[in-house]
Amino acid sequence: PIPTVAIIGRPNVGKSTLFNRLVGKRLALVDDQPGVTRDRREGDAHLLGCDFRVIDTAGYEDEDPNTLPGRMRQQTQAALAEADVALFLVDARDGLTPLDEEIGRWLRAADVPVILAANKAEGRIAASSIYEAMALGFDDPIALSAEHGEGIADLFEALRPFI
Ligand code: GDP
Ligand code: MG
Repeated sequence: PIPTVAIIGRPNVGKSTLFNRLVGKRLALVDDQPGVTRDRREGDAHLLGCDFRVIDTAGYEDEDPNTLPGRMRQQTQAALAEADVALFLVDARDGLTPLDEEIGRWLRAADVPVILAANKAEGRIAASSIYEAMALGFDDPIALSAEHGEGIADLFEALRPFI
């Protein structure tokens, strides 16, 4: 089976922007079945000679914030169950939030390797805002900008052992 990367993170960190950058127009499936996989998007990426599948966990952006963690957890666990590696995205501009820390705990409890990436790191962003993510307890974060296409090669290097 094709290696699978699950993009995990709280709403608005740029998961779908990164998914679109990796997958482009090769979107394979929009899964709108009811239940835990609702609104999940999957697609095939071809990057630097590697083929892999990407899962964008989505569909909870418009949810009641009070019910958000439960829905997110369901989607995250469903995606992790199929993933060879989790790409944990945080927002270098917002800084860490309690939800990032909670997602970090779910990921540590899962039996899946985790690559941490700090998105929105384009331009002259302070290094400190990227390294804040080290508090999550994973390897050093990859700085990237999904929107501007920066750091994608570094991201690929980090993913490569798992795909
Ligand atoms: P998701 O909820 O995690 O899927 O996040 P989205 O991909 O929908 O992006 C949320 C917002 O962040 C949108 O307004 C994007 O344009 C913006 N965004 C995504 N990636 C970047 C980035 O690399 N830099 C900046 N400055 N904004 C970004
Ligand atoms: Mg999204």
